[in-house]
Amino acid sequence: MTDPREQPPGNRDLRPGTDPCYKCGTCDASCPVADVDEDFPGPKFQGPEQWRLTRGSDRDVDPSIMACSNCMRCDGACPASVPLSQLHNTARGQYVTNQQSAFSRPAIRNRLLANYRRGAALAARFPRLANAVANNRLLRWAMDRGLGITADRELPTFATQTFRSWWEDRGGADASRERAARNCEDDPPVVAYFHGCYTNYHTVEVGKALVGLYESFGYAVTVPPQACSGTPMFANGRLDDAKREHERTLAGFRDAIADGAPILTSCTSCSMALRQEHPELFDLAGIDELAGNTWDALEYLRVHEDLADRLAAATPEESSTYVYHAPCHARNQGLARQARELLADVSGVTVTDVGDSCSGISGTYGWKAEHYGHSMAIGEPMFEHMETAPGDTGLTECPTCAMQMEHGTGYEVEHPIVVVADVLGCGLADGAYEITERSG
Ligand code: SF4
Ligand code: SF4
Repeated sequence: MTDPREQPPGNRDLRPGTDPCYKCGTCDASCPVADVDEDFPGPKFQGPEQWRLTRGSDRDVDPSIMACSNCMRCDGACPASVPLSQLHNTARGQYVTNQQSAFSRPAIRNRLLANYRRGAALAARFPRLANAVANNRLLRWAMDRGLGITADRELPTFATQTFRSWWEDRGGADASRERAARNCEDDPPVVAYFHGCYTNYHTVEVGKALVGLYESFGYAVTVPPQACSGTPMFANGRLDDAKREHERTLAGFRDAIADGAPILTSCTSCSMALRQEHPELFDLAGIDELAGNTWDALEYLRVHEDLADRLAAATPEESSTYVYHAPCHARNQGLARQARELLADVSGVTVTDVGDSCSGISGTYGWKAEHYGHSMAIGEPMFEHMETAPGDTGLTECPTCAMQMEHGTGYEVEHPIVVVADVLGCGLADGAYEITERSG
């Protein structure tokens, strides 16, 4: 059997993955979209069944594949390890390439959502103007009616300075090495940060917290040139775009890959794309090395450093109470309990896990006007659990889950890295993380 990765994306022989399916239906029972959208046939059909149906015949990919949110819950549910998300990504790519008119309204809308990074890079040059016009009612109405991007959500706020700009102003890798050296007896080990689009343009504090945290553990941070993780591209069947972006990231991380430096992410969908989705679809130089060396930023410190002990010994000045939602992509990477377990022994910090339901937004899915209602229906159990749990501050690793949590409850939502950095005293001061030297 030819290695599927030696074949062009979307044209691989996935039979070895589909054959173990014994039609148990567990994946269908786990699918949040099938639960609320009666027109969606579910992951078993979208995966192994559709793959078989479209082999050796002129049968088209069913258009319903575009209603899969790419939450990947079915991947984790399958007892036979059928590579459902690989099958779905492949089918979506085939549908968009071969069957969808490039000038249709959904295709134009999906191209814009998938390539959000390009629009964000432009808007971030004029953040105050972008923020002033982004939620203009007339503009949002036109986006809804003209493009099918729901007007029922607020567009995310642009930071007045991007993470990369802050990083360069602070002195980049040289300054990080200097700061790390204060907390390290030898040459500081190097880590490479994949910050992703959302941290760069919107939640800059997450990247600052990561840098401060790692320097406090004696690591020198580098921030190589990088592109989009590809997450919104996979979800919209734009495999060529995802491949192009990943080629750029691989080029930017070439030195980090060659040096074997750990590659850190602060978004669980970014890490899922780097670890699993890209290697499942593309055969590019360095792709497996990057995938094999990618870590969630807290996961790396938890495994390699005494993060848990230091948190347990911390005595934060203020008490805090959080309601935590584990993103679906965190679950698939075994990270669903991480934030709760890390913060469990911190004096004065209370974290309640609001259960294993999907938030419903799944990146770009909940931004599509035709799926907005489904997205909110999927998120309803999470909203209810949040509102009945103690505390009114959310906690999650995924920026779009955070968006949905805020949208459904009105709560502010924080990132575990920011909370951990604050608890350990490498918190934000005067707009830049000050590094607390390690004691003992
Ligand atoms: S859970 Fe796995 S084995 Fe069961 S029907 Fe779905 S793909 Fe097939
Ligand atoms: S990825 Fe999510 S939405 Fe898509 S089929 Fe699987 S469970 Fe359903």
